[in-house]
Amino acid sequence: MTTESFATGLRCIDCGAGYPLSYRLECEKCRGLLELTYDLGALAARGPAAFQGRGLWRYAPVLPIANPAHRVTRGEGQTPLLESPRLAKSLGVKRLLLKFDGTNPTGTVKDRSSATAVAAALQFGQRVTSVVSSGNAGSSIAAYSARAGLRSLIFVYEQASAPKMLHMAATASDLIIYKGVYDDLIGHWDRLAEEQLFFDCGASRNAYKQEGKKTLAYEIWEQNDRRAPDVVVAPVAVGETFIATVRGFRELKQLGWIDKAPLMVAAQATRANAVSRAWRDGGPLRPIEIGYTVAEGLASGNPGLKGEWTLRLLRESGGLAGDAEDEEILEAQKVLARTEGIWAGPTGVAALAVLRRLLAAKQLDPSQTICVIVSETGLKTEAEVPPRQGTVFDYASLKALVLSRLAG
Ligand SMILES: *Cc1c(COP(=O)(O)O)cnc(C)c1O
Ligand SMILES: [Zn+2]
Repeated sequence: MTTESFATGLRCIDCGAGYPLSYRLECEKCRGLLELTYDLGALAARGPAAFQGRGLWRYAPVLPIANPAHRVTRGEGQTPLLESPRLAKSLGVKRLLLKFDGTNPTGTVKDRSSATAVAAALQFGQRVTSVVSSGNAGSSIAAYSARAGLRSLIFVYEQASAPKMLHMAATASDLIIYKGVYDDLIGHWDRLAEEQLFFDCGASRNAYKQEGKKTLAYEIWEQNDRRAPDVVVAPVAVGETFIATVRGFRELKQLGWIDKAPLMVAAQATRANAVSRAWRDGGPLRPIEIGYTVAEGLASGNPGLKGEWTLRLLRESGGLAGDAEDEEILEAQKVLARTEGIWAGPTGVAALAVLRRLLAAKQLDPSQTICVIVSETGLKTEAEVPPRQGTVFDYASLKALVLSRLAG
């Protein structure tokens, strides 16, 4: 059975101008960003039973891909929402839910947006996809493009981890390595996207791409017995994940399926904290020069229009923003592994590190239900391994070792 899409068109987030469902990256009148609109009244009448099947395309009614033949999938979505009592206890939180997106096909939240981006490329008859990436988006777009039979032109920065490089080298049609950070290349690349040399699979402007990440909100809601948590902490690079999650919960509220949207927290790395800094200062978003952060996927100092949109949503909704130092992120990575057995990458645990900080600063109420989006597997991380010096055992020395460890 095929689920229909209730998408109706595109709307400018600044001036409200409307457009039909088509491939366009900005408002013709004011150059503002575009977002998708839906016939939520018709969907509300159908009720949550309109969601059928498994994985990301279960939510096809609130995604902008009409033809099921275009709905490319590699088994993304339906990631676990884990009750995490041991970590909750160590943080002093009453109830903690971890939305672990590391189980997606390429190990990150990016697969949600790659599914709808590549589906949109098919929908609009495009042959070539492209993205500028620190590694995760590149791996993901390359993989989905291969699956869809499209050519991919993947730009990745030279500091990407070895596992990410290997992954992209294996799946991309063309892998191009650039010097510098994301911000250095994205301006030129955006112009090439405007000249239609390829389909824009970047995070900065394509409304169809962003839409896939909205399923985070729908999944969290369904997995939490169709209730919204009190607080959701989401990582922010340019803000696509954050914006999409906010939009998902807003739709759920408009549909009348939740009473109240959660308080949203935007989490960044201190070394790339343009949004959280502006939020704290109460001023406009100012681009910052950034270097390396262990949270590679959050390494954007100039989040552009999406960053401004993130800030606007934070201010409108009374949300919170925070950031964490690299050492705190690495510490959160260890704590998560020890308490819940989840091995997540530094980018993936930045939101958890920020939660720890906000709790310590008493900016969040620990008696609420708090959901943290852990967006990346640890298996894509490159770090120093423990010394590989092995020991040769006989029975006696092995037993002595085991007894001494168990006594410790
Ligand atoms: C890209 C990325 C994010 C968030 O980036 P946005 O552009 O703000 O959506 C978060 N976690 C991981 C693992 C990522 O790769
Ligand atoms: Zn406009």
